[in-house]
Amino acid sequence: MNSETPKHAFPTRILFAEAEAIVRGVAAANRLPVERIAVSRSAGRVLAEDVVAAIRVPSFDNSAMDGFALRSADAVAGASLRLVGEQFAGRPGGFTVGEGECVRITTGAPMPDGADAVVMKENVRLAGDRIELSAAVARGTHVRMAGEDGGPGDLLLRAGTRLTAVQASLAAAVGMAELPVARRPTVAVFTTGDELRPPGQPIEPGEIYDSNRSLLMNLLVAEGLEPVAWPILPDEPDRMRALLRDAGEAFDVVITCGGVSAGEKDYLTGLIAELGAIHFWKVLMRPGMPLVFGRVGQAHLLALPGNPVSVLATFLTLGRQLLRGLQGDAAGLGPVRAQLSMPVAKTHDRREFQRGKLAFGDDATLSVAPHPATASHRLRGAADSDCLIVLPEGALDWPEGRLVDVLRY
Ligand code: AMP
Ligand code: MG
Repeated sequence: MNSETPKHAFPTRILFAEAEAIVRGVAAANRLPVERIAVSRSAGRVLAEDVVAAIRVPSFDNSAMDGFALRSADAVAGASLRLVGEQFAGRPGGFTVGEGECVRITTGAPMPDGADAVVMKENVRLAGDRIELSAAVARGTHVRMAGEDGGPGDLLLRAGTRLTAVQASLAAAVGMAELPVARRPTVAVFTTGDELRPPGQPIEPGEIYDSNRSLLMNLLVAEGLEPVAWPILPDEPDRMRALLRDAGEAFDVVITCGGVSAGEKDYLTGLIAELGAIHFWKVLMRPGMPLVFGRVGQAHLLALPGNPVSVLATFLTLGRQLLRGLQGDAAGLGPVRAQLSMPVAKTHDRREFQRGKLAFGDDATLSVAPHPATASHRLRGAADSDCLIVLPEGALDWPEGRLVDVLRY
């Protein structure tokens, strides 16, 4: 621990579940304001209020086919019906189909009064102003009933739903042009470390390329956000202090990586305590233990450890919970369950996140193969994988076939 790091003014070495509870609590107490946006741009956004239908869907009985609207009582095999008009989609109704009559109709057009079924045009023989039925047509055939999909007062979408394109279109189908959604958090990303260089430039001995910036920026974009990246921060407390203070005034969330462990140059924890507040430091998870969650200025601050797989594990769990929680997303992370395709062993009692690759077996069972690389600096093993396997506290040995939660990325 750096000499400037405060010792126990905040919870430390807490259980993963406690860390989750704190993150969720802070997010719930700091919901982002609501804004109204166009329904056509709302997929991926979190709905802030229930959507209740004000009209019936469909709003009138209409034809599901191009054909002829008729009275089913007349429609026995071989019947000949007199064509008395045409009813196209988009035109108001108003026709009446009398006994022995029919009306030409297109898909989506209102059903004429008196008609209770539609026969497809392919199934009739047209001769002059008459049609001949090859088979009987039952009542209700090819008719879409008004209100089939819902009516006034029906709860269509719940507040807290992260909207899919289909859900957004349902809101449009009941006439809504805009939806109330949570504002998206603004996010700043800092990477820290004297050894880091931006990709695209030569490196000197002892230096490495900054890969976490790409990792975080892309993960944030995949969350539907528009993050802003700061230049790489050197391990200099004065520079870090100035930039953190600025970012704390300008963003909803600041995510840093590196500089929170026990090294001589790990100044961040002390700076966060000085400039704001720490909710917790160090979570009993592996990788990712030295994580700090706190506040600087107006911003929620997540200071992630520097190793790439630590960044992945902490972002996919606590990072996403914070970002989604601030938007009121009620679904949480919704882990997927898969069967271990080979045994895995944990080295610690802590909650562990191991890299794995998902596959559907011949019996359609989802299985996950753990990757042999477990050290948190080995990005390649994470790139060759597509999920993190969640191994909770306790048992060290996890047998083949055991069901585990996985976090896909
Ligand atoms: P730290 O948490 O600062 O002690 O960093 C832990 C390890 O992660 C060290 O090996 C760092 O060089 C490495 N690291 C820190 N930041 C990054 C980054 N942005 N990209 C790649 N590796 C990093
Ligand atoms: Mg560092």
